[in-house]
Amino acid sequence: MLLAAVLACLCGAVSCAPGEPKWGVLSAENALVGSRLYHAARVSDTFQYIDLGDVPGGQQTIEPKVACTVKGCAHSDDSCPAYIRGLTCWARDPKPGSHKLWYAQMRTYFDAELKKGVRHNVIACLKPQSGETATVLWDWKYAIDQLLLYGEEIYFLSKNEEGTHDIWVMPQSGGEPKLFVQAHGADIIMLGMEDGVLYYMSEDGGVFRAPRNSGAAQPERILTCEMPTGIFVYGGYIYYPVRYKGAPEYELLPAAETDENGEPIKPAVAVNCYDYYRIKVTGGEPKPVITGVQATIGSLISEGRLYCPAWDFEYYGSVMSEGGATYYFSRSSGKVWAADLSGGQSAELIMSPSKYGYAGIDIAAIYAVTDKYCFLKLYDTLAAYQTGEEIKPRYALLEKESGKISTVGFDSRYAS
Ligand SMILES: [Zn+2]
Repeated sequence: MLLAAVLACLCGAVSCAPGEPKWGVLSAENALVGSRLYHAARVSDTFQYIDLGDVPGGQQTIEPKVACTVKGCAHSDDSCPAYIRGLTCWARDPKPGSHKLWYAQMRTYFDAELKKGVRHNVIACLKPQSGETATVLWDWKYAIDQLLLYGEEIYFLSKNEEGTHDIWVMPQSGGEPKLFVQAHGADIIMLGMEDGVLYYMSEDGGVFRAPRNSGAAQPERILTCEMPTGIFVYGGYIYYPVRYKGAPEYELLPAAETDENGEPIKPAVAVNCYDYYRIKVTGGEPKPVITGVQATIGSLISEGRLYCPAWDFEYYGSVMSEGGATYYFSRSSGKVWAADLSGGQSAELIMSPSKYGYAGIDIAAIYAVTDKYCFLKLYDTLAAYQTGEEIKPRYALLEKESGKISTVGFDSRYAS
């Protein structure tokens, strides 16, 4: 119901030509395809997934499956279609109902004639349900660091001679790539694509729009962002964080402990506090969307909502060692805010310890939200303080109704 309302609202704001795709899909390490949540990390990894339609109940850890249908496969060499040694980036297929996974890979092999290792870069496509793989670009000279799938096209970010990146475009069916955006001195990354316009950012913070059929026209600069992360193109707007003007550089956390002289210890933590703004993709006056955002990484826009880890420090305590004191605190206090982008500026707390009864976690990133689940990266800071263990991130699935958090074992090498 929410999705239908948002789609209706978005399509009312722009004229959609029939048959014309609306959104592009940018590469990411996690993506929902149907009920499957896929994961693959950069450089040497397998495509793994968990099925959100079939999450085992009562388990603390959900073991992922490898996206491979070969019987008896160890998923450890090139004979496995889901084992992508030298993976540089991947994206799900944008077409509704498609299960294809597009990826770029740096393949290395030993050339017997040249008597040395040879590298080449490819773009390929995996159909995980059948195990079929098709390579559509061979022998590309430079590493491909980002993919963007739009309609029947593949846009890719490729290194050049200068070590910066250019954007190229080619048909999904294969063929010669064409240069789409050339970096002039400053490096660039792709931000997204909507209604036939690709948006990218240069290292000086400039956000540019480049229509797909613009020929030799210069891309237009829309705005300058101070932060290089957390920028989204969505529903006719560009969303971006702006450092909160009133925020101090650091904050002193109240602590019950005292030092050897009996003076209270007040650990200082660096403050990253931002407001989210949005501006029309054609430019204009920026408007605030949500205030008090902790981080510029780890946020997500999905189905009409902006999700952010909250900015709410909680101090647990310190542990003394020879190297000095280690202070344990949560930045988010386990809270996630969601702002409805279709109207108003209110944000609601969709995750919090008081709602769910958990405590002591720090949410670092939100990757996917469905009707039933949030898929997150979090740190168990309170447990680390209590046990003295190293603070390590884990992927976790939160069931929204019950508040149950399960660890998702992505990134571990295993055979199944
Ligand atoms: Zn395999």
